[in-house]
Amino acid sequence: SVSRMEEAASKPSSKVVAVVGGGLVGALNACFFARRGFQVQVFEAREDIRRARTVKGRSINLALSHRGRQALKHVGLEEKIVSQGIPMHARMIHSPSGKLSSIPYGRKGQYILSVDRANLNRELLTEAETYPNTQLNFDHKLQDWSAETGLMTFARSDGSVQEIQAQLIVGCDGAFSAVRKQFLRRSRFNYSQTYIPHGYMELTMPPADGEFAMKPNYLHIWPRNTFMMIALPNLDKTFTCTLFMPFEEFEKITTGEEVMAFFHKHFPDTIPLIGAPGSPADALRRDYFRLPAQAMVSVKCSPYHIGDKCVLMGDAAHAVVPFYGQGMNAGFEDCIVLDEMMERFEEDLSVVLPEYTRVRVPDDHAIADLAMYNYIEMRAHVNSRWFLFRKRLDNL
Ligand code: FAD
Repeated sequence: SVSRMEEAASKPSSKVVAVVGGGLVGALNACFFARRGFQVQVFEAREDIRRARTVKGRSINLALSHRGRQALKHVGLEEKIVSQGIPMHARMIHSPSGKLSSIPYGRKGQYILSVDRANLNRELLTEAETYPNTQLNFDHKLQDWSAETGLMTFARSDGSVQEIQAQLIVGCDGAFSAVRKQFLRRSRFNYSQTYIPHGYMELTMPPADGEFAMKPNYLHIWPRNTFMMIALPNLDKTFTCTLFMPFEEFEKITTGEEVMAFFHKHFPDTIPLIGAPGSPADALRRDYFRLPAQAMVSVKCSPYHIGDKCVLMGDAAHAVVPFYGQGMNAGFEDCIVLDEMMERFEEDLSVVLPEYTRVRVPDDHAIADLAMYNYIEMRAHVNSRWFLFRKRLDNL
């Protein structure tokens, strides 16, 4: 928009900020930096997902909650994204016998939203591009960079290599961050990474007679103690079901018949919806073998910055297990926190970055711990009388 261009032009800044990674956090972060008038260059390893026919990657949909919405509001995108999401007011617990019970997320009127990951990423990239001082560079995979000079080396798919310099490098390149590799070479950098024994697999529940096959405004959960399945609604009236289970259990199931037996035993109410033999939904026995189960990693580190040169944000700084539904939301909140520091310390990066680390590390580590705790809570306690009792107390 015109006012936005004027806003950016009225704050001329020669500082080049390189945002490495054009995923959810990188694309949003580009908007935050652009609003401050920096020359923003986003470098994304993949092709432009807005042009790609299929988007590879993690979960198809995500739960967007308050923290994430606040960050979207800052860049004027909240309403648009919320209008494309599906409110989930409560969890819907499916017992092994098919009995349903709901547990609200909060007070009346409160909800989280199921949003499409690829769509959200596309909207964020398109928003970032509306700023005249922002440029998106796809097919740029960071290989190496220097903390001394700020020089980055990118590999292109045609085999060429490009060198680019920036005053500030913002690592938003996800759980296996290439930016973070430089941190690992330095003294007094704390780092830990843990793979949990569980993997996840996504299955699609098609619409039934043109409508959602289950009640749409819920996050459906089938807690089964050592494993669980969840389902989030999509705008096209499908549900994306995610089965979380130890890898060794996934590996025990090797034939279509074994898949069906497993579902009959543990998720019988879903069979007519995703696996009825002969029905259009008879996709279960095929889908199960389409992709292997995916791993889940938790990464904690500190500090998040190197001098006034570089800062890690989003999963690059704190990959969490997905059971608390807060990974992206926390990454979005990172953007607000850094922006507040920029405001308070007048964009003096030598103060802003250490302050960001000081404030943000304890909060992000707390989210990582809560997510790990909910890893057990969701598949086990959500099932128990004790949990339901406690929830009832919460609601009094
Ligand atoms: P990413 O989304 O991983 O993006 C990183 C980007 O960097 C990618 O585009 C990648 O291509 C690019 N990149 C990587 N390496 C390079 C390189 N060397 N050079 C250039 N670019 C590079 N969070 C929630 O808040 N709610 C949920 O309900 C939720 N559900 C989840 C369910 C599952 C199964 C999983 C696995 C995660 C879930 N999360 C959820 C977490 C969420 O997916 C992440 O926290 C979020 O994607 C982090 O965004 P990011 O931009 O930091 O990283």
